[in-house]
Amino acid sequence: MADNPFDLTGKVACVTGANTGIGQGIAVALARAGADVALVARRDPADTVAMIEDAGRKAAVIMADLSSIEPCERIVSETVEALGGFDILVNNAGIIRRNDALDFTEDDWDTVIDTNLKVLFFLSQAAGLHMAGHGGGSIINIASMLTFQGGIRVASYTASKSGVGGLTKLLANEWAAKGITVNAIAPGYIATNNTAALQADADRNRQILERIPAGRWGEPGDLGGAAVFLASDAARYVQGHILAVDGGWLAR
Ligand code: NAP
Repeated sequence: MADNPFDLTGKVACVTGANTGIGQGIAVALARAGADVALVARRDPADTVAMIEDAGRKAAVIMADLSSIEPCERIVSETVEALGGFDILVNNAGIIRRNDALDFTEDDWDTVIDTNLKVLFFLSQAAGLHMAGHGGGSIINIASMLTFQGGIRVASYTASKSGVGGLTKLLANEWAAKGITVNAIAPGYIATNNTAALQADADRNRQILERIPAGRWGEPGDLGGAAVFLASDAARYVQGHILAVDGGWLAR
């Protein structure tokens, strides 16, 4: 193992949904640990590019709409072409639809499942094919508290994130022997666009804060250390794990 097992110098990472929120926080943390980073986004991730370059690393932008599996193979090939490898994949892009289960539509269901679960699987497959032929790598899926809990008014999101937990373990089982680690991070309540509606609802905001032992919403940067760890040689024997970064929410 290297002197600093958390050092990502010489590694190439690819982060989906890297223009904002948790994806941006993780992309910057990986760059600060030494990785060059391909940023997958459907909107210009100029802010994230600037933060990565400030950290002294290279950024590549890959424009892609992750509502279908169409761009998956291209994301891997363009990352390799731009940055010379593909060692770390962070499946972060995700969406949520809020509606009572009695009113939930097929569109509410399919849209969320397609991005959060189907594309996550097929992008992992494209990455896994490359990694298996190039000495291995690390895949980090962004799960949720709703990988463990039921939630309310978010049927397709809960189904997708519970599925992410299962897929993380399945892929770890299949790919550990190929030198690929597959793990997940389960964020608690993090202040991003995804949770803007909850933050804006005074009652829900108070209820959430009362239940978080840390007493505050998480910030995207709070996920960075967990991502660096799971991407690094320090986690080379960690497989199929879902690491909660939640200010103590699940412990309550
Ligand atoms: P966010 O700020 O809304 O970021 C979501 C990211 O995914 C954005 O970059 C978004 O792009 C991208 N994305 C969504 N659909 C896409 C598509 N079809 N094509 C390309 N990119 C797409 O929310 P976030 O909180 O950072 O969410 C990141 C991940 O963390 C998600 O998987 C979410 O489920 C998970 N998570 C969040 C929390 C939380 O409390 N915030 C808790 C648990 C898990 P646009 O900016 O263009 O929409």
